[in-house]
Amino acid sequence: MKFQPSIIILYLFLFPYLIPANANPGPKCSALPGYRERIEEYVDSLAVFDTHEHLFNPEELKNTYFLDFTLLLHQNMYDDLVSSGMPNSVYNQLFNQPLKATEKWKIIEPYWNKSFNTASCRVILLSIKELYGIDSLNGSTVDSLSYRIKQAYSGDWFNHVIKDLCKIDNVIQETDFIGVNRPYVSYTDKFSDWITATRKYRIDSLSVAQMEPINNLEDYVRSMSIAFEEAIKMGMVAVKINVAYSRSLNFEKVSHEIAEKVFTQIKNGNESHSVSFKDAKPLQDYMLRRLLDMAGRYKLPVTFHTGLQAGKGNMIENSNPALLSNLFFDYPNLKFILYHGSYPFGGILSSLAKIFSNVYLDMNWLYAISPSYAKQYLNECLETVPVSKIMAFGGDQRCVENTYGQLMIAKKIISEVLSDKVHEGYITEYEAKTIARLILHDNGIQVYKIKNTPPVTRQ
Ligand SMILES: [Zn+2]
Repeated sequence: MKFQPSIIILYLFLFPYLIPANANPGPKCSALPGYRERIEEYVDSLAVFDTHEHLFNPEELKNTYFLDFTLLLHQNMYDDLVSSGMPNSVYNQLFNQPLKATEKWKIIEPYWNKSFNTASCRVILLSIKELYGIDSLNGSTVDSLSYRIKQAYSGDWFNHVIKDLCKIDNVIQETDFIGVNRPYVSYTDKFSDWITATRKYRIDSLSVAQMEPINNLEDYVRSMSIAFEEAIKMGMVAVKINVAYSRSLNFEKVSHEIAEKVFTQIKNGNESHSVSFKDAKPLQDYMLRRLLDMAGRYKLPVTFHTGLQAGKGNMIENSNPALLSNLFFDYPNLKFILYHGSYPFGGILSSLAKIFSNVYLDMNWLYAISPSYAKQYLNECLETVPVSKIMAFGGDQRCVENTYGQLMIAKKIISEVLSDKVHEGYITEYEAKTIARLILHDNGIQVYKIKNTPPVTRQ
């Protein structure tokens, strides 16, 4: 049989399409064998910048009823217990009475058995295993775990876990200026009293607390600026805005006149007078923008709670980061740091971080919400967002044990994602290590302009 030239031409034309898809491996992994282990070791050796915490003051813990196994349940796990059906009446008992550990466990156990699957629970189990040598949480281990916790806190456990075990060299703690006074701790502060006002009583309380009259809108703005400057003196390195717990993140531009009208409506009533959110919104929007002005004057970044809210019964649509877009346009020189990978609005957040040069992405808390989501999300972000804008770790925890547990999960995920990307030939081993150092540490220092000067101690 004779080959026709036309058949040969046709074959050459179709050749690329006749090869099975998996026969073309794309860019080859050129890393030397052992890169996974080397990346894991490198990630483990890094100093960590912890972007967000609510850690209990270890000294104050000693005066509470929960320096026992329930310490680790605070915030995330309690949310899951309540979500699985624990009523408020049951929940409140745990804080108001000096119960024994085994008595507390009896109350908790039915709801623990309904929610033991969550990532919050896994963080706790990992923490108690690695830090206290306890393999599971049940009626026969809560006593010995509680004993070990008390023993640990009689020494400098807080420093030991944060500095020695986690290798964290910077923590940004929310608000509690009096609390955790350590040279490596910086603070964010909230100004919710001014930006969520609906009640006359609240405005009057501010006036009493500051011993300054608040009779008109100018006074109200001045009152916020007094609080702001006080926070600056205390070492505030960023402003925190968590209003997505109570209202939408949409903040419109409002004129002074309209805001003043709302202020007068609220102020001119009896002490219990309040207005609806709908009526108060123009004043709240106005005040939020004045707060951003202040942050701009001091060149402080502004952090926003976005996505999933802790606790129960919140409106998830209020926390969609896309609602903030007008602020990104209106404040081009402000750094906006959006928390929690905006779960479940992660794709929206990475799009915003890509579109706007002033939007930064912070994955704090995400590994305790869903490690598999965090893994997929980090993978996507590394393909989407400039690496200088990604901060990959913050605990968002109440106790150092859970910060430790979550960090161990985060480091494993970060190592795996980077190693997979080296394997695919997407990045080199050297680039993987550079990324790890930036997202776990250097970006935090850069974005928050940390100078390692300890904050002032409140007298
Ligand atoms: Zn938080």
